[in-house]
Amino acid sequence: MDIKRNILLNPGPATTTDTVKLAQVVPDICPREKEFAAQMAGLREDLVRVAHGDPAKYAAVLFCGSGTLCMDVCLNSLLPEGKKALIVHNGAYSARAVEICRSYGLPHIDLELSYDRPADLAAVEQTLRENPDTALVYATHNETGAGLLNPIRELGALAHTYGAIFVADTTSTYAMRPINLEADNIDFCMASAQKGLMAMTGLSFVIGRRDVIEASRDYPRRSYYCNLWRQYDCFERTGEMEFTPPVQTVYAAIQAMKEYRAEGERAKWARHTRVMDAIHRGLEELGLRETIRREWQAGLVAAVRCPDDPSWDFQKVHDYCYERGFTIYPGKVGTAGTFRLCALGAIDVPDIEAFFQVFRQALDACGVAVPARYQD
Ligand SMILES: *Cc1c(COP(=O)(O)O)cnc(C)c1O
Repeated sequence: MDIKRNILLNPGPATTTDTVKLAQVVPDICPREKEFAAQMAGLREDLVRVAHGDPAKYAAVLFCGSGTLCMDVCLNSLLPEGKKALIVHNGAYSARAVEICRSYGLPHIDLELSYDRPADLAAVEQTLRENPDTALVYATHNETGAGLLNPIRELGALAHTYGAIFVADTTSTYAMRPINLEADNIDFCMASAQKGLMAMTGLSFVIGRRDVIEASRDYPRRSYYCNLWRQYDCFERTGEMEFTPPVQTVYAAIQAMKEYRAEGERAKWARHTRVMDAIHRGLEELGLRETIRREWQAGLVAAVRCPDDPSWDFQKVHDYCYERGFTIYPGKVGTAGTFRLCALGAIDVPDIEAFFQVFRQALDACGVAVPARYQD
């Protein structure tokens, strides 16, 4: 089978290998068969090990849905009655976490901080000191809208000092930027299969402490379908998801996990890093500027300022590149006037070099000046 290879520079779903794509083509199987449960059991353990957790202490709980589902699950399931969640809010994804709290009417503190720098630890500590009823601190590892890295290890330590659990949204770092549950003070993290793991959409997972999940059995049941304890309990008792799993997507994720292990944590992170370096280089050559200081970036997303050029038209540049097999991505609300180039997926430096050739042609075709012009 000859499958056209597209280079996705959007923040997930990412470019996948053909072996992962083809792993979905399997004989039909009812997911209630033991054979399928055994496949998921292996995957669940491997998912914990990617974050260097001990499967006796931490469990991976799979869900059928996109990554936002895991944010929803952690927030609605892990807050005891009468306690507050503290949302460290410094980007588009933590803004989404705040919206989730509002949707459920969860008692929460929306600690809104500057979107262009790592979370201010002093502000977080002061908030924790003033709110001793905080039971859960939530932060985003890589704020994917801007590519901003948050100090999760320090945030987790603060949460623990003040007696709260720490939930880190690692959706856009997991299986790329190395994570260590214990060392990084993470009680719960999450991801979806189509980002760092380079598998397919439709499978997401929460990884976290078994003792906390077991305690959460008695917390208010705020969602029927998206409750963490319920899904965990079903896995523990039967090895299955409570409701129908994304069968073919699970097979692809298992193949992607094999490929993750073959590449290795360090080699994979080194590859994403050299891809990002090639993106920085290509942007610099065109005079394009980024919004977040280099040392504050998570190393996976470049949020680029659109040039102050009347000929600049994101959609036209996008379409030119898209027709040639390269996908670029608009910015997020709150970072208006930006577009994004990401280093996720099964790509390497030559793909980025090929992209910048096409991108430069796109700028020429649209009449955008190179080097890029800015008013300031
Ligand atoms: C991608 C992403 C999500 C999940 O987004 P979905 O579109 O629901 O898959 C959540 N958090 C972060 C930080 C992300 O990058």
